[in-house]
Amino acid sequence: MAATGERIADLVADGVAEPAWLVRVTDIKQYAYCARVVYYEYCLPGLRPVTFKMTRGIDMQEETERLEKRRSLQEYGVAEGIRHFNVALTSARLQCTAQVDLVVESGEGAARTLLPVDFKLSRHEPGRHFMLQLACYGMMLEEAWGAPAPEGVIYLIPLKRAVRVALDKRLRREAERTVAAIRTLVTREQMPAPTAQRSRCVDCEFRRFCNDTL
Ligand code: SF4
Repeated sequence: MAATGERIADLVADGVAEPAWLVRVTDIKQYAYCARVVYYEYCLPGLRPVTFKMTRGIDMQEETERLEKRRSLQEYGVAEGIRHFNVALTSARLQCTAQVDLVVESGEGAARTLLPVDFKLSRHEPGRHFMLQLACYGMMLEEAWGAPAPEGVIYLIPLKRAVRVALDKRLRREAERTVAAIRTLVTREQMPAPTAQRSRCVDCEFRRFCNDTL
């Protein structure tokens, strides 16, 4: 298989996991947009060019991180806490990998909680796929850092607005099912049907590879 998901060599070496590849949590968004995009990225790596939008997104996130250090945590519903930026996570249970923009750690002992924060370059109300990503971050944090993550935040950079999301059981189960569906898609290496919303194909970077969408 030509999948590009990272090998979990460290976990395998530690006897924590069987040899496998990891789903990137950010692919949940791509999967919701069009499953075929995920197929291209894993099974035919190297097709996607780095676009202006991606580069701009990275610049904006760096600026947000700088401003974040001055912002009150009360916007996230937290009185006091420690900020951890760009937290890399790997989950043997979910078999996925992620980098969380910000984790706010608060409380001590039994009251210690973790809050994943995802910065988004968007003016729109966050879609379900962003919430599913957040649920994955929460579950991965709980597994790696050993404290509950009952909530997460999607921070809309252009609006300077924090949207709080309850990471409830329903959202978590849906997130697990989505990761499993991505894994199945890549493992089978069968190109899925194009998105039913063909208007998405107009500006898609993979359009020239999808001859059946014209
Ligand atoms: S062109 Fe359309 S079907 Fe093909 S990957 Fe893009 S969105 Fe999906």
